[in-house]
Amino acid sequence: MEKNSTSDKKIVAVLLSAPTERPYFYIVPDEKQIILGSIVRVPLGSRQVVGIVTDITTTTKDFSAKKLRQISEVFDYPAIQLELMKFIHFVSSYTLSPIGLIVRMVLRVSTTFTPEEMLKGIRFSGRMPERITPQRMRVLELSRNGIVWSRTALARAANVSISVVDGLKAKGVFERAELPPASIVPLPDITCKSVILENHQRKAANVLQDAVLKNRFSVCLLDGVTGSGKTEVYFEAIAYALNQGRQVLILLPEIALTQQFLDRFYARFGVAPIDWHSDLTPRRRERIWQQVAKGRIQVIAGARSALFLPFQNLGLIVVDEEHDAAYKQEGQVFYNARDMAVARGQIIGIPVILASATPSIESQVNAKQGRYRYIHLPLRFGCAAMPNIKTIDMRNNPPPAKHFLSPPMITAIREVLQRKEQSLLFLNRRGYAPLTLCRVCAHRFSCPNCSIWLVEHRHYSRLQCHHCGYHQSMPKVCPECGAIDHLVACGPGIERIAEEVSKKFSDARILVLSTDIEGGLKQLHSELEAVSRGHIDIVIGTQLITKGHNFPRVTLVGVIDADLGLANGDPRAAERTFQLLSQVTGRAGRTGLKSRGLIQTWQPDHPVMKAIVTNNSTAFYAREIEEREPNRLPPFGRLAALIVSGKAREEVENYARALRRAAPRGSDINVFGPAEAPLSLVRGRYRFRLLLHGDRRVNMQAFIRSLLAAAPATRRSICLQIDIDPQSFL
Ligand code: ADP
Ligand code: ZN
Repeated sequence: MEKNSTSDKKIVAVLLSAPTERPYFYIVPDEKQIILGSIVRVPLGSRQVVGIVTDITTTTKDFSAKKLRQISEVFDYPAIQLELMKFIHFVSSYTLSPIGLIVRMVLRVSTTFTPEEMLKGIRFSGRMPERITPQRMRVLELSRNGIVWSRTALARAANVSISVVDGLKAKGVFERAELPPASIVPLPDITCKSVILENHQRKAANVLQDAVLKNRFSVCLLDGVTGSGKTEVYFEAIAYALNQGRQVLILLPEIALTQQFLDRFYARFGVAPIDWHSDLTPRRRERIWQQVAKGRIQVIAGARSALFLPFQNLGLIVVDEEHDAAYKQEGQVFYNARDMAVARGQIIGIPVILASATPSIESQVNAKQGRYRYIHLPLRFGCAAMPNIKTIDMRNNPPPAKHFLSPPMITAIREVLQRKEQSLLFLNRRGYAPLTLCRVCAHRFSCPNCSIWLVEHRHYSRLQCHHCGYHQSMPKVCPECGAIDHLVACGPGIERIAEEVSKKFSDARILVLSTDIEGGLKQLHSELEAVSRGHIDIVIGTQLITKGHNFPRVTLVGVIDADLGLANGDPRAAERTFQLLSQVTGRAGRTGLKSRGLIQTWQPDHPVMKAIVTNNSTAFYAREIEEREPNRLPPFGRLAALIVSGKAREEVENYARALRRAAPRGSDINVFGPAEAPLSLVRGRYRFRLLLHGDRRVNMQAFIRSLLAAAPATRRSICLQIDIDPQSFL
């Protein structure tokens, strides 16, 4: 008897969207239809969570219904495809993150998963009206084939007033019907407006189009100087993929750049792609998610999280600015979206395009060794020349005390103003001054929660921590010695540069651009627009201004402090500085005006500065690659970091030591540390780091897994983060 009641029960394994390592099992109620990949809602403790069905078995075994619970709901969505399941497993095992966290990145939709509502519509019932007027005739002509219309659309299409339609409806000519929800976007039109490519652009596009036509996994590295037409070239590949009815994903490093990209895409394809990022409203996020899953959205442009969307028919992935550090996600799961994009392309079996003016060393080596196809666009499009770049040796041209612009820089800005062109001054420091100091006792203002100086933001008259958001209003008194009005600002931020510039050029129209801008993205877009229209003479900005934007009248790019990123002990410091300086100076002279870049530096003989000035990236990269190889730095070796943090310093340090002791012996992987992290305190948590280093062939993940298995379990008070291929060493 007992046995009968549980016989032939369907049991499913469900990967939950929760920090779990393995599937949970549930019973499927008889009436529910389930297939592999179905998205379901299930009880977990007292909560309800969503998950993906990964296994289905029928069993007569007595799972004594007490233990196994039932699935609450099966969502009416296309099942998660096998390809995406494989990707989830891959990301989990590569990053050593619980698989449930990856599932959560895929099911980024609220737990309710409300299906899209059907729209109310009408359909011809088959009954003709007794009296026919010309207006009624037009309505009938459009609807007699049984197509479902919304009332208003039918009236508009027939060019009659809504009362004509309603009149027919009242006579029983129409019956109610449901209309599937509208797509968010129409399909792109690949013939809308394509440019005529130059010879070498055409060749590059052919290679990419060929990769799309082959329709199997490949990676193309599209290396072209700023303004060489990379975007136009990869648009051609996108057109091919769209023409085959495939979906396309374009990854962009920053949402601040998206608007310009969307506009360009619109100009080429007649519709804007859908942008996907973390700031979408839940409702919109859900709609996009669903329409991507159903294949109704063909093109997504988005930040790294777009990589986890449930594409139904993905045919091409483009990673723009592939070298950009913003692709690295650091948080619960540490992953590099560029690398994971390549992995997803490989799993699906489709081409991936990596585009950059300054490709990462990793991708360059992959190209050199034949794993990626290398496509080079060495010249700017049309008559635009690269800017003429010079360093300003700050040892010979120091600015006056408490000033930061050297005399040659001032002269150059003046000349540009006289020609009614634009200058762009770059300094990667927000706020007014990076450090505030007491002149009497040398007290430095630092964050109470983080080991970092507070940055003065004069605009808000306060001191601010750029890590945890702590702020205090600008003090007058030194908290240590009590001296009044003896605090000084040390060093410049962009606000301070703006102050200096506006004193020197009081008639110039000056704009300061950083993420501190009031009014958010919208305001940022309208400011950028103003620059494009020539309403601004001098733009002063942070990293934000270095990429993407095309400012037609910028003929001078001034770098205030080129040495800033060089001295931080990061193995990629030189590479990053080179990329940054190339990007920012590349903003100049986009439209053929003669332009220059001026770089203030204390070390003009540094290889990075020399490479920038001679516009010789080949030599620079060759040298970097040469240095990395013997030291087995990436990509010739593998790195991983284990970061331990917690509120009690000693406990954190002890646990980090215990991790070190748990490291497997006799391995080729070296363990360094634990050492206090350079940022030793963040948000009130102490941090220690271990660095693991091995050569290219080692299995870093296996090593860490056995280390973790041998280590004592973490307590709740301790947080352990695993960073494979770390980009940041802070
Ligand atoms: P990149 O992405 O390499 O920086 P873009 O694709 O943005 O270069 O091209 C730079 C500028 O030149 C853009 O305004 C672009 O529209 C224009 N451009 C590039 N190639 C062509 C072409 N073949 N015909 C017309 N305009 C082009
Ligand atoms: Zn802080």
